[in-house]
Amino acid sequence: MKHIVSLSGGKDSTAMLIKMIEMGMVIDDIVFINVMATPTMGAEFPEMYDYLDKLEGYIGRKITRVPSVISFDEGFHQTYKKGARKGAIYGYPFTIGAWCNDRLKLRAIEKHYKTYGEHIRYLGIAADETKRLKHLTPNCRAPLADWRMTEQDCINFLQERDMMNPLYKKFKRLGCFFCPKQSLSSLRTVRHDYPELWKMMMQWDVESPRTFRPDGTVHDLDRRFALEDQQITIWSYMEEVQTGSDTGKTEAA
Ligand code: SF4
Repeated sequence: MKHIVSLSGGKDSTAMLIKMIEMGMVIDDIVFINVMATPTMGAEFPEMYDYLDKLEGYIGRKITRVPSVISFDEGFHQTYKKGARKGAIYGYPFTIGAWCNDRLKLRAIEKHYKTYGEHIRYLGIAADETKRLKHLTPNCRAPLADWRMTEQDCINFLQERDMMNPLYKKFKRLGCFFCPKQSLSSLRTVRHDYPELWKMMMQWDVESPRTFRPDGTVHDLDRRFALEDQQITIWSYMEEVQTGSDTGKTEAA
């Protein structure tokens, strides 16, 4: 029986992995499913890959990085074989029932884990994630729940070891840079901090038969964020003028 840790690079699975190692638990392999944006480029933000390197150094072990069977770009360009959409490309996934989770993540997981034969899978599900805990399959374990570690406990645990993923300084939840499920504030950060990745999203946007989010396209978001930036610039300018004139008044007085 093999013991396999499923690692996402997020706070919960990373805290679980480090604690399992500290407790001397048997681990035969540590698996990170690397969703690919294109056949040659991962879908995570660059900091994630640096963080995995740092984690490997910290635990003194290799992490098995398994690429998705197809990339997002390939899935995006697949066509419907039947029904009303026959012949149309998939395009951006729906926010509910997204094709990407199944085709990019789950297929890679199922294909890779078969190579272990009989195994126990360790998942980073915190003690306060009751819904996910209810759906654990018989070969899966959730040690964080056994240790009664909540999501906040995982954060504290990693901070004590200086092993918190730096992406949490920018995002509340981690995932693919093009994820349509991410929040508006997260999308603002993608546009602002990762212009090259945003450009890729804009390119896919032109081809997609459906909008990126139910309420609009990436181009709509781009216009909205650009307008917000302009407003912030104007406000800052007015504030500066105001402060300057106030100072002027004070000095004059
Ligand atoms: S993180 Fe978002 S884009 Fe990536 S596989 Fe999951 S749902 Fe799809």
